[in-house]
This record gives sequence, C-alpha cells and structure tokens, in this order.
Amino acid sequence: MGKCPFCSHQWTYRQKLLGYSLKPRTRIKCPRCRAYIEPSTLTIIYDYVAIIAIALMVFIFIPVMQMAVWASIMISAGLLVIYLAVFLPFTVRFKRYDYD
Ligand SMILES: [Zn+2]
Repeated sequence: MGKCPFCSHQWTYRQKLLGYSLKPRTRIKCPRCRAYIEPSTLTIIYDYVAIIAIALMVFIFIPVMQMAVWASIMISAGLLVIYLAVFLPFTVRFKRYDYD
C-alpha cells in the first residue's frame, strides 16, 4: 500500500497524510527518489466514491435526521477528517506519472 513504483519506497502513514491526503494531488514527488508519481486509477475511483458517500450523507441523511445546523456541520467535518486521515492513507496506491 502506497509504494513508489520507481524505488519501491514504502510510504509511511505520515508521508501519505502530509504528502498526499492534505495536498491538491495531480502529481506527487516520492520522498526518497524524488520521482514524480501519481495516484493510481483505483485510488482516484476510491476518491470519488468516498466524496460521493460524504456528499450523500450531508445532503440526504442529515436533512432527514432533522438535526441542528451545528450538528450537521460537525458530522460533515468529522467525516471529511476521517476520510483524509484514515481512508486515504490506507487505500492510496501510486503509479508512474504520465507526461502528456
Ligand atoms: Zn521513489
């Protein structure tokens, strides 16, 4: 999980969190060999699925529950944090960056 396709460097949780999750990610630099890599297609699919799931929660589930606005905001923020801090670092896979 999260291995560099060039040097086989295994990304640590911290590197994945700071170097991938919390960044706008079009291409990423490997912390060891400095080669450009990008998230694999599967990772991007996971990304969309998770974002859609969070959006569904926010727009469908929360209004149905009739919760206070602050509670909905807290839950949405909580989900986003879980997604960035837990889901992404444990599912990310990298591939070589394709130059167009
Ligand atoms: Zn590398």
